[in-house]
Amino acid sequence: MAATIHILRPELANKIAAGEVIQRPASAVKELAENALDAGAERVEIVVKDAGKALIQVIDDGRGMSEEDALLAFRRHATSKIATDDDLENIRTLGFRGEALASVAAIAQVELLTRTAGEDLATRLRLEGDEIKERSRDARPQGTTVSVRNLFYNTPARRNFLKTRQTELKNITDVVTRLALSSPSVAWKYVSDDEVMLDLKPESLAERLAGLFGRKAADACIPVRESTEFLTVDGFIGRPDFSRKSRTDQYFYLNHRSIVSRMLGHAVLKAYEHLMIHGTFPFVALFLSIDPRHVDVNVHPSKMEVKFERESDIYRFVLSVVRRGLAQHDLIPAMGFRGGDGIPAGDGRFAFHGPSTDGVPTAAGGFPSVLPFAPRTVPEPFGTPAAPTILNFEELFQRRQEDLTTPETVKPAGRIIQHTPSAADAAPAGEGRAVWQVHNKYILAQVRNGLMIVDQHVAHERILYERAVANFENSLPWTQQLLFPETVELSASDYALAKELLPDLQRIGFDMKLFGRNTVVIEGIPADVRIGGERHILQEILDEYRTNEHATGNEVRDALAKSFACKAAIKAGDKLTMGEMVALIEHLFLTKMPYVCPHGRPVVVKIALEELDRRFGRTS
Ligand code: ADP
Ligand code: MG
Repeated sequence: MAATIHILRPELANKIAAGEVIQRPASAVKELAENALDAGAERVEIVVKDAGKALIQVIDDGRGMSEEDALLAFRRHATSKIATDDDLENIRTLGFRGEALASVAAIAQVELLTRTAGEDLATRLRLEGDEIKERSRDARPQGTTVSVRNLFYNTPARRNFLKTRQTELKNITDVVTRLALSSPSVAWKYVSDDEVMLDLKPESLAERLAGLFGRKAADACIPVRESTEFLTVDGFIGRPDFSRKSRTDQYFYLNHRSIVSRMLGHAVLKAYEHLMIHGTFPFVALFLSIDPRHVDVNVHPSKMEVKFERESDIYRFVLSVVRRGLAQHDLIPAMGFRGGDGIPAGDGRFAFHGPSTDGVPTAAGGFPSVLPFAPRTVPEPFGTPAAPTILNFEELFQRRQEDLTTPETVKPAGRIIQHTPSAADAAPAGEGRAVWQVHNKYILAQVRNGLMIVDQHVAHERILYERAVANFENSLPWTQQLLFPETVELSASDYALAKELLPDLQRIGFDMKLFGRNTVVIEGIPADVRIGGERHILQEILDEYRTNEHATGNEVRDALAKSFACKAAIKAGDKLTMGEMVALIEHLFLTKMPYVCPHGRPVVVKIALEELDRRFGRTS
């Protein structure tokens, strides 16, 4: 019987293999541009037509190829970049697998024009479906041009699977962006259907950031750089208020190769934990340099994935570099009135928060976004001397941060919810008064550099949450006894839940007993919870807790702490006394993270004095 197995024709084998390397037009752009960088180009130009389907052309001024090399370059596994097993362990170029040119030649019509320094004329090769159709000589400065036409013309399945023109173009733009960011000393030009998308001179990394992402992004970035013997991390991290709606603005490089890494993504998210509003992501561009012998980039034909040795060390190091970078900078989300720069005014991420805006202007719509007279002069020095009535909450927070190793050294003074007037309440209105309640919802306070607006509900939520978490750890419940114990009847299932959570509820500060027959008696409630609503609060905490019922282990307590904080906190609409407001803010800045509530909503918005001055056209 004749054999049923046979070796595939090389053209067919190449087509199949090509599918792994060139999945879409953007992969071809990436491979060709990487070759240009590997050839030492100082200038790379990329031209695409119809999102790369009609044409992809990459022009460089690198070292070029001799005719002999040019012929070899299209063979599979033909490379000048590695030769020995040892080289494979020590890769310093972007390419090394010798597959890219062979792959594009298998699935497109390709033309190469290349000249080395030592030749007078350039070599031209025209290939179609792996076959050389033309071989000639032409004039060209040193360097290489590769033109790829009609990608996937002979692999209809692949061609039909391409996404919309817009998506494919976005993928290409992303590839070019990543490469251009990794090589600020190289000039890049990128043209799509005759439209110049990028035109970048050789520049510093900071300038390149601005060139690729705009001034606003560059200004929102903090430089970081730290090394150990094993690893160097440098680059830029975005201030938390310059947040992005998706992860795509996280750029990671390993030895100048753009990589995707869940591990690095996680380290960054961890570093920004509690600083970002839920569902937003930080902007980062981080460059890791590690001896290539300690990493493996040969994991996938696209070379985007890598394996690290000492992964957990790298994780910890990146986490601490980013954390330190953040710690050295002012983290309060500042609010800009102007459109165009500062915090984007348009998306309202840092708009005043609350169920209804209730006449309170929002950053998004309440103010004219561009002022006709807004002076664009150099900002004046930011630190106007502190007036005597200013509350130095932020300084308190700074000190507290420095003290984090011994958190017990700063103790909050007194309670927030006061049942008797305090000294602060007696302060005459006007002089000495530095906090105001607005619409029984927001607290305005003058701070050193401007004005701070605090959402009273989320601020209290943050305080109660941290206190509950602390109570779980050191069980020092802070209970206020009720004059008249409250008997509460629950449904059978709520009673069962209350029973299950009883020890934890007691730790938080609920002094309560189970009475049987679905009845509990509340004799005391946590301090800083308003007296009067006990029965509702317990019910609400149980309801809220149920919505998170998937919680297990330690998460149970966290979910309970969150439910408690959310339901026991003062609400929008609660009138606060002066003493309560001052205490609330003071306690807020003694928390670990005053700026974001446990659910990720902003707690504080700051308006810089500079911003007000600019708005009023004031130059001094
Ligand atoms: P690899 O980059 O993995 O070596 P490629 O198929 O991309 O494989 O390229 C094959 C070889 O062709 C490269 O090793 C390089 O020697 C040569 N080459 C490709 N593109 C260029 C270029 N733009 N300039 C100079 N040489 C190039
Ligand atoms: Mg290559």
